[in-house]
Amino acid sequence: MKDLQKKLKDINKEYNYFNVICDDLQEQYKNANKKGKLYGMPISIKDCVCVKDVETRGGSKILEGYKPTFNATVVQRLIDQGAIILGKTSQDEFGFGSFSTHTYNIPKNPFDKTRSCGGSSGGSAGITRKLSDLKIKHVSIAESTGGSIACPAAFCGVYGYTPTYGLFSRYGLLDYGNSLDKIGIMADNLKDIKTVFEVVKGYDEKDSTSLNLEKTPLNKDDSIKKVAIIKETLNVDPEIKEAIIKTVKAKFGSYDEISLPIVEKYATPCYYIIAVSEASTNLAKYCGLRYGAAEELKGTFDEYFTKVRTKYFEPESKRRIMLGTFTRMAGYRDAFYLKAAKVRTMIINEYKKAFQKYDLIISPTMPIVAPKFSDIEKLTPLQNYMMDIMTVGPNLAGLPHLSCNAGYSKKEKLPIGIMYIANHLNDYKLMNDKLK
Ligand code: GLN
Repeated sequence: MKDLQKKLKDINKEYNYFNVICDDLQEQYKNANKKGKLYGMPISIKDCVCVKDVETRGGSKILEGYKPTFNATVVQRLIDQGAIILGKTSQDEFGFGSFSTHTYNIPKNPFDKTRSCGGSSGGSAGITRKLSDLKIKHVSIAESTGGSIACPAAFCGVYGYTPTYGLFSRYGLLDYGNSLDKIGIMADNLKDIKTVFEVVKGYDEKDSTSLNLEKTPLNKDDSIKKVAIIKETLNVDPEIKEAIIKTVKAKFGSYDEISLPIVEKYATPCYYIIAVSEASTNLAKYCGLRYGAAEELKGTFDEYFTKVRTKYFEPESKRRIMLGTFTRMAGYRDAFYLKAAKVRTMIINEYKKAFQKYDLIISPTMPIVAPKFSDIEKLTPLQNYMMDIMTVGPNLAGLPHLSCNAGYSKKEKLPIGIMYIANHLNDYKLMNDKLK
């Protein structure tokens, strides 16, 4: 464990995968539950998931110094089964982004340091790839609101699993958008994902949106008989299209092509309206009085609050507060937030119809391979948001999905991700060996 700690520090100097590396790995190992299902398994945790007594900032300057006095339910379940918590992985501030660039500690892609790891769980994906290359066993706990597990998993060439909404407790997660947030798992193999899945899933009375699996059980049938690729999503770089079709043919032999026109046209605007609306209320509690960063107490509450938030929030967070406050405002609520909620139902229904016929619905995970930081800088906010076109659909609908590697681009040798989407509570289909 001492060696591992040193290795993590060395990797971090070069790649910024951790905001915090725990300094008690040896002690954790000594005290770990030897009979646990995860005894000795090193696990990194995305910074937005609370770990007791370990600084937890969600990638934000505003939470500097905040150490939770409790473990998130997911973390507690891992520790109870003997896992070793390595530290907190770097991410976009509060999950706002697709490239992990909206933060003070930007992770670099393990394949090319001038490129992004993806986001917002960039650190989790980067360290998963890096430790896998070094043949060190490791799993990462990440989080997705609109694609933050699938996207970085694709850009770093690892498996990224996002569960059915409500299957993993959100207790102890720093909220981004409560109706969308899901804790999930990254690893370099499906078997470890399944082992961790069995440990963390299931009802938690501390989370009112947690699913009671006795009332709404998981479908244990993991068989995959019929699959379909979403036609519109093949309208990408020919190299990505080719990799997806080749992978699907190799794994399933035959497939259908289907159209999901409502998802295609409305998922991105619908997602961003709902996500920013929920985010803007969730951020209200960060005002420099209760948690983390503070300034000298001077002036009225509004003056103080404004000073702290101006100084410590990233520009992207400020943008989302403005947008979200607008979409929820009296007079605009009907036109934006409530309309988006209705469109969300239409999107769910469109998927549900497709699942009457298919076990899995497939698309590329991202329309591009990992971009260069210098190119990301040139993107407008809207172009940034459009990058999530493939991943926001299943996230809006609360559907479980898995991003896997589907090969590498020819020129830059960067990983290409393929995304499998299953129906609600059909998470076991995503752990079928066929997807290995
Ligand atoms: N890129 C999306 C966003 O910025 C998704 C982020 C996430 O899943 N946390 O909202």
